[in-house]
Parts: sequence; C-alpha cells; structure tokens
Amino acid sequence: MPSNAIIDLIAALWLGFIGACVGSFLNVVAYRMPLGMSIIWKPSHCPKCNHAIRPYDNVPIFGWLWLKGRCRDCGEPISPRYAIVEFVMGFAFFVLAYAELFSGGANLPGGPITEFTGAVNNFLVPNWALIGVYAYHGVLLSLLIVITLIDLDGKNVPFSFALFGGLVGLLTGMLGVHPWLEKEWFRLEELKIASAFGFAVFGAGCGFLASAVIVAVWRVRLETAQNNADKKEKRFFERTGIPFHKAGNLMAALTLAGIFLGGLVIWYAVVYTVIILVFTRRILPKERWKLCKLALPVFFCVVIVLIAVWKPFEGYLHF
Ligand SMILES: [Zn+2]
Repeated sequence: MPSNAIIDLIAALWLGFIGACVGSFLNVVAYRMPLGMSIIWKPSHCPKCNHAIRPYDNVPIFGWLWLKGRCRDCGEPISPRYAIVEFVMGFAFFVLAYAELFSGGANLPGGPITEFTGAVNNFLVPNWALIGVYAYHGVLLSLLIVITLIDLDGKNVPFSFALFGGLVGLLTGMLGVHPWLEKEWFRLEELKIASAFGFAVFGAGCGFLASAVIVAVWRVRLETAQNNADKKEKRFFERTGIPFHKAGNLMAALTLAGIFLGGLVIWYAVVYTVIILVFTRRILPKERWKLCKLALPVFFCVVIVLIAVWKPFEGYLHF
C-alpha cells in the first residue's frame, strides 16, 4: 500500500501532464489565432514542410526531446518554445495541485475551505468548490499564456479573444468560485452573485487602470527622450515601441487577471513584475531592450506564485 505522499505525487504528476497537454494546445491557439486559422479542424503540422505531426511525436515536452528539436520529415529545427510552454503549464498545474487542491485550499484567502486534504480525499470526498477554484485558475493561466505568446510574436491579441476570456471569468466567477466571498462578508445567497459580479468588475477596473498607467508612463518617457534628442534612449524606444510590443496585449493580460483574481492582486503582481524587471536590467545592462519582451512572461510567473501563496496576503489580496 503506497503512502499518501506517493499517491499525491502521482496525482500531481498526472495533473501536471494534463497541464502540459493544455500547454500543447495553447501553443497551437497562439500560433493560429492571429493568422485567422482554424484552431480545431486542422491537425498539427510542421510549419515549414507542412507534414502532419505523428501522434507519437505529439506528446508534450517528450515529443520535442526525442526529436531533438527537429522535424522528423524535413529536419528543420522546431522552436524550443513549444516544449518550454508545455513544461511551464505542466509545472503550474503540478505546483497548484499541491498548493491549492491537496492542501484543501490552504493557499486561499479565508482558507482552508475543507479539512479533507491530499489526493485520496480529493477523490473520495470531492470538494467541487475547491476543484472549481483550481480549474478557474487553470483557465486564467491558459488565457495569460496565449496573450504572452502572441505578444512575444509581436502580434495583437484579437479583441474577441480578450472579450471571451473576460466573460468566462465573469460568468464562472458568479457561479461561485470565490469561496472566500461567502465566508466573509456575503452570507446571503442573493448577495453572493452580486458580490462576485462586483469582485470581477472591480478587478477588471484595477487591471485596466494599472495597464493604462504603465503605458502612459512609457509614452511620457518616450516623448521626453525624443525632445531631449537623447540618441541612445531614442533608439531604445524606437526598437521596442511600447514596452509590450502592443499596449492592447498588456491591457488584455492585466484586465483578465483582475477579473479572475480581484483588484488588489493586480497591483501586487505589477509591482513585483516591475521589481524583477528592474533587477534583471541591473544584471543584464546590455540586454536592456530584451527586457520589454520579458514583461509578460515575468508577469505570468508572478501570477502563478501569487496564487500559490495567496493566504499570507489575506486581507490585502482580495478586494
Ligand atoms: Zn517539417
């Protein structure tokens, strides 16, 4: 009889594998959506020689590893980005399985929400509120990684995609995936839905405001640099445009994160992201322009960490 720790590990690895499969699908979404291609109806193929990718080569992470990063048909290199995205999503699902699901929601504000912890109890006595929160956060991370990848490609996130993500966050949020809301202020059934709606709208407002502030600060710096004819600064801005190739991508990412996580989390996430970027700039002075590309990936990682350690910020990180 294996111990509970081993069962937890196996279950977390399995959830991590699901996360890697989700990442594999999102790679396709991020590649095809800006090109207006069908996401579902065409099987994966090599972008260079157009050969369909064999099912056994399509295994997340490992497919790329045993092909040594090359197409089986034409031998052209396949970007490691695909495997990295699969690994990151798998890792996020793995970490949150422990921090959120098996802990009984001990990471959540007002948590834990159940005394039944571990994978076995999650299976025997499923707590749907908790499983809902885990899935909800998985959806947010999926939306954010698609935006991040499209931004890295220098393209725009379609407005319809951002709208779709926002509606999913708002509507599922109103179904009650904010367990701390009922625990604290809003015990009445009819107020629960209204409060979840307010939570999402407040979060969206904060996310949008935070992104607008960043873009405004950047624009002012750009104008100042142009007026002062500071050649080095000017070249830097010309090469990078706005910090995240497209301001709309930044706004979409922060607004969606606000809808899913609430208004205050956003400010923490933005401040930590900026601190990390400034620190990275200190140690990589010549690579400065590349930092602009790092902004959304760093924000994505910060969001994972904040979800995992939400509880210590209780009282600050929601509403
Ligand atoms: Zn090929």
